[in-house]
Amino acid sequence: MKTGYSMLLGEYINAKSISYTDCKSFQIVCPICREPIFKVERNEPPPTIHYLSHYEASKSFADDCELRVKSISTQDQDKENNVSRGQKLEYFLSVLREEVLKREFGTSQENVEKVRQVINRMMSAPGVQIFRDIFHKHQLSNHEMNKPENLSIIFDEYVKDIEKVGGSFPITGFVIATQKRIATDIWLHLLSAKAMGNFTFLFCCGYLTFSARIEQVQRERSLYQFERDFLVALERLIRVGRQNAENVLHVLGTTPIGPPHAISGSNYIAKVASEICHEVFGILLRLPYFDMLVRLSKAR
Ligand SMILES: [Zn+2]
Repeated sequence: MKTGYSMLLGEYINAKSISYTDCKSFQIVCPICREPIFKVERNEPPPTIHYLSHYEASKSFADDCELRVKSISTQDQDKENNVSRGQKLEYFLSVLREEVLKREFGTSQENVEKVRQVINRMMSAPGVQIFRDIFHKHQLSNHEMNKPENLSIIFDEYVKDIEKVGGSFPITGFVIATQKRIATDIWLHLLSAKAMGNFTFLFCCGYLTFSARIEQVQRERSLYQFERDFLVALERLIRVGRQNAENVLHVLGTTPIGPPHAISGSNYIAKVASEICHEVFGILLRLPYFDMLVRLSKAR
């Protein structure tokens, strides 16, 4: 058959998009009888044919499944896949903050608690809120950041940086494609008005990660002037009141920066915003969605 059903993802999967190991990792079964199936690739004669096959089944039994799988229309598959994606998204959003804290700052429980407190303080700091509003507005109007096809290109750049996507899962194209797809769903949801809480939380995580990255660089080489300026401004925005924060942001918005550190005609605020965005995308792409789904399926 050409189509399997992933118990883990709750979705119909095309045989062509998966590898041998994906059948086990994603708990891919026959959509009809729910028995395990395996991937077959037949190369002779060309072209290569991808299909899924039962392990042990009498011919008539397998043929029956085959016929019935064929009768499930693409529309029905898409409909069920979309429902399942919606349910997964809802679940991921409900545990997003804890998972991000654990994945990004979980070197120890003390560290998680420390970062949680810092983020709570940041979320109520006027400077962070004003900057977040500027950032949010920019993301909404930036077509590179709010179209799935463009996000896919941006995420591809990250995949190159991230050695292990999907935790203990084997690294296959399907794993990476699925990580990207879930990260895209979450990001697009975060841009909606009702998601401001989670959006702010991730903005703060990206903000902290970017600051930490400059501090890390400082141990290896002396910082450029703009990096020193960024550290000072980012630290001040968390600490000062509204009026001072507006002054800091005004200075950031009117200080130019260009090649080789930024695109021509840019300024400090645009540069900081794009670095924070870079960090947020990395955080979303690194989340262990598969482990999370396995935990969810065990809890059911
Ligand atoms: Zn079957």
